[in-house]
Amino acid sequence: MASVAVCPGSFDPITIGHLNIISRAAKLFDRVIVVVMVNSRKKGMFTPDERMDFIRRSITGLDNVEVDYYDGLLADYAQRKGAVAIVKGLRVLSDYEDEFKQALTNKRLAKDIETIFLVTDTEYMFLSSSVVKEVGSLGGEIDDFVPPEIKDDIIKRIRER
Ligand code: ADP
Repeated sequence: MASVAVCPGSFDPITIGHLNIISRAAKLFDRVIVVVMVNSRKKGMFTPDERMDFIRRSITGLDNVEVDYYDGLLADYAQRKGAVAIVKGLRVLSDYEDEFKQALTNKRLAKDIETIFLVTDTEYMFLSSSVVKEVGSLGGEIDDFVPPEIKDDIIKRIRER
């Protein structure tokens, strides 16, 4: 049976750090579903539709990757999709505590689904969606932070907000 993995996140917006994790996951699993989730603790800048559109335009070369949106429990979603794994990226030690809690919670809720952490490539260690929004809104270059296909649109929309 084809192996399915989900890559959840806020993706507000997607960065090349996210894309690095998604493309590596795409080599490990037959099918990868990138799922946009709205984190109630983080105030988003882009709508779920905008985030999905940015992701779709960034993954054109990755044939086994698809994009979705879900506003419920990740464990339920992953089970419903028949996923064997939840793939997350780890940047720095400070990511770890929260990710560890989430992984343990998800294991309780869906015991057959494994959370797998891929360690970021060193060049993306500093990179987050917040960095993109901060630099972009202050007029800085975001060329090294987001996929080239979506750079202009992100800047345009940041400036409109
Ligand atoms: P952010 O922390 O930037 O708001 P998300 O909630 O969208 O990110 O994160 C989705 C997943 O992508 C998380 O597992 C997060 O750790 C991972 N991730 C985010 N940025 C990077 C990066 N630069 N390198 C590796 N993984 C990352």
